[in-house]
Amino acid sequence: MPAKILNGNAIARAARRDIAAKVRQRLEAGLRRPGLAVFLVGDDPGSTIYVRLKRKDCEEVGFNAAVRQLPVETPEAELIGMIEALNENPACDGILVQLPLPRHIDPLHITEHIAPAKDVDGVHPHNMGRLVLREPSIHACTPKAVMTLLRHTGVLLRGMSATVIGASNHVGRPMGLELLLVGCTVTTVHRFSRNVPSHIAQADIVVSATGKAGLIGADCVKPGAIVVDVGITQQADGSLCGDVRFDEVAEKAAWITPVPGGVGPMTRLAILENTLAAATLADAGGSGSGAAR
Ligand code: NAD
Repeated sequence: MPAKILNGNAIARAARRDIAAKVRQRLEAGLRRPGLAVFLVGDDPGSTIYVRLKRKDCEEVGFNAAVRQLPVETPEAELIGMIEALNENPACDGILVQLPLPRHIDPLHITEHIAPAKDVDGVHPHNMGRLVLREPSIHACTPKAVMTLLRHTGVLLRGMSATVIGASNHVGRPMGLELLLVGCTVTTVHRFSRNVPSHIAQADIVVSATGKAGLIGADCVKPGAIVVDVGITQQADGSLCGDVRFDEVAEKAAWITPVPGGVGPMTRLAILENTLAAATLADAGGSGSGAAR
């Protein structure tokens, strides 16, 4: 039987309506609009599109979005100075720096200068550390997006066997920790792993985040598995595809995400959710430049 589709576009659209309603309630209660600052260094075409979509999302839900496009040669110290100013600005709840950055800027160095309470990407060492310690504060956006999609299946996740393919700082590693947090038995594989197909074949949940188009076929997927495809590859004709061979895996899995229209819009939704949560915390006096709770 073909898999049910986890439609990230539809789920995110409905959730944005809820966020817009919460923003209206804030305004009626005399509170300010949540504010998100996005830095784009250089003019990478993919990054420019992502930043435009983030701005559009903010406008749709009623957030203030401040996009700062900086020249590619902007010194790291200058970017850090602007971030530190925003850390102290009470109108700003979230700070995002679009990746990739030019080679002379160290992304970890930049992330470390964002106040943890405004790290709406959820990748500051403070927020990652809290996830490791099972006391998450701000969740990393893409793993959060995947968890929201998994909850939409209605399947009890506790005790399931999950294989994460990819072990990056932004996606694979926090993804494994999120799945562990809900009680899954987690295996993480990466480019040095042996027998990757055998690790996929035993999994009730497969989350793939490699950027290797078509890496996962039906031959290695367990019948009835939930398959979430984080990967995005732009093909020669400009179209996007994922790590999973969708048509054949959809014949075997119970649930599957499409690319595009699966994890991507949910990741953008997670940024909005994290920004609203940061604003709510700031209202309660828990934000500013201080550490996230
Ligand atoms: P990355 O390059 O930092 O990490 C890729 C990981 O995949 C590495 O850990 C690597 O060891 C592993 N890998 C590569 N080839 C493999 C193979 N053959 N078998 C097993 N593991 C292999 O990339 P990233 O930043 O984690 O992103 C991964 C993919 O997800 C990319 O396509 C990216 O565009 C996409 N992405 C999508 C979203 C979204 O919202 N949909 C968000 C972030 C990233």
